[in-house]
Amino acid sequence: AAGAEAGGDPRAAAIRDATADLDGKRIENADSEPGNWLAHGRTYGEQRYSPLTDINDETAGDLGLAWYWDTGTTRGLEATPIVVDGTMFTSGSWSVVWAHDAKTGEILWEYDPQVPREWGKYACCDVVNRGVAVWERKVYVGTLDGRLVALDAGTGEPVWEVQTTDRERAYTITGAPRIVKDQVIIGNGGAEYGVRGYITAYDVDTGEQNWRFYTVPGDPSKPFEGPHLETAAATWRGSEWWKVGGGGTVWDSMAYDPELDLLYVGVGNGSPWNRYIRSPGGGDNLYLSSIVAVDPDDGSMKWFYQTTPGDTWDYTATQHMILADLTIDGVERKVIMQAPKNGFFYVLDRTNGQFISAEAYVPVTWASHIDPETGKPVENPDAHYANDVKEIRPAPYGGHNWHPMAYNQDAGLVYIPALDLSFNFAQDNAFRYQEGEWNTGVDLEETIPTSDPDEMVEDLKAVKGHLAAWDPVTQQEKWRVQHDTSWNGGVLTTAGNLVFQGRSDGTFAAYTADEGKLVWEFPTHIGIIAAPVTYEVDGEQYVSVVAGWGGAFALASGVPRHRGNVLSEGRILTFKL
Ligand code: CA
Repeated sequence: AAGAEAGGDPRAAAIRDATADLDGKRIENADSEPGNWLAHGRTYGEQRYSPLTDINDETAGDLGLAWYWDTGTTRGLEATPIVVDGTMFTSGSWSVVWAHDAKTGEILWEYDPQVPREWGKYACCDVVNRGVAVWERKVYVGTLDGRLVALDAGTGEPVWEVQTTDRERAYTITGAPRIVKDQVIIGNGGAEYGVRGYITAYDVDTGEQNWRFYTVPGDPSKPFEGPHLETAAATWRGSEWWKVGGGGTVWDSMAYDPELDLLYVGVGNGSPWNRYIRSPGGGDNLYLSSIVAVDPDDGSMKWFYQTTPGDTWDYTATQHMILADLTIDGVERKVIMQAPKNGFFYVLDRTNGQFISAEAYVPVTWASHIDPETGKPVENPDAHYANDVKEIRPAPYGGHNWHPMAYNQDAGLVYIPALDLSFNFAQDNAFRYQEGEWNTGVDLEETIPTSDPDEMVEDLKAVKGHLAAWDPVTQQEKWRVQHDTSWNGGVLTTAGNLVFQGRSDGTFAAYTADEGKLVWEFPTHIGIIAAPVTYEVDGEQYVSVVAGWGGAFALASGVPRHRGNVLSEGRILTFKL
């Protein structure tokens, strides 16, 4: 790490002071210090709504570049920065961590965990990292090769490090840690390769493990690690799932309600994708594609809601979850909201997991609707691909992927960075588990619908994305901004009646939150996928975004050459009036 002379460095001492009392109470009271962005989704409820108003729908047209910093990386950048009293902490490709002066962009320190580059073959969806957590003088990062590292916030020097995964299996970490009750909670990825999903809670000071919560049952001849797994095992069939891993990785989304003291966890797809191979004879395969509520004190399960029972299309429920209080049918409800890959927008009661409502936010063909009585999807029989190739919507990229949404309480709208893609599913009849390789049970050759160049051009025209403003009470789209390309950036909303989004065509833009009118845009010359943040230093408001094209869609589709996307290197771009 740079900035080594820790002891006498006044800047390092100032950062340690500023972060010394950053704990759960301070995050719970985040609205009392709106100039900071203290946690991944700003608050534990992860609304990504900032109360700052100097930059607003009337002034945003005057935004200009305050500073930029070249990351020197050419792979995807997906991080949400944390900003504490004028210092920005963020992460990049290969799990590198940076601290910057949030006012000037001056680099204060860099930490490189030296992830072995050959680990990149285990990363289904690029060597990305979605950000760090900051708590009591330390910065925490999960590394691509499965470590959790605590750094001195003042210098970036490692304080402790633990291996959270089995290095003999194809586990990766790309998600941001969350910190609840002096515990760092971290999940992992790798379901495409064949692993078993879980989250682990570690003591913030020592790195000692407090508990581990598995999302899917292991070998049923061994004792269950928790009563929830005995329940789950009854929903799996066959004798092979635990050998392949079962999947259910928690590779991104978590949220926390301090009042209910529940940690919400988004669970991913099965290993392999194909349920006819994974669990021959059927079964819901709990807790794949589910939102699970966990007691953060001991990792016991309180409730679950499964969005896609018996998932066979890679429909993860790892997508961003937002906590809010909504008035529905005249009753104030504590809800949790998610737009998982399966294309339906869900509103659930977060006290008990009860289904409230769900409607399709993008075109959906795998199910007709969610039955309001059972809270379960009604599958379309034509979505089953065991015998024939089937074109299905959404694609495994999802109607929405990891790109964070945002909820604006003033407008009463959730902003969804939506994808509109289809996919040709076909069973891989020659499937055989291969260690360290993709194990989907789907013939991916069938996903290429044509080799005719003219037909390809026509197909690519159908590859779309948009920004949807969704009313979660009426379950209707209020407005949308149609984009020319897919895989656009995560979202920020503010009390200044604004929504910010970067796009894959190399543009960073601001729209009015209530009506979706374009009020400002800026050419960034590189596609943006990460979500912006806003903060204040010395009384001035800034908006910042980590720009760097990459991720699953980019690995498959290359670089969109729109509007002069000419950069290959990533940049942190920071704007003010
Ligand atoms: Ca997946």
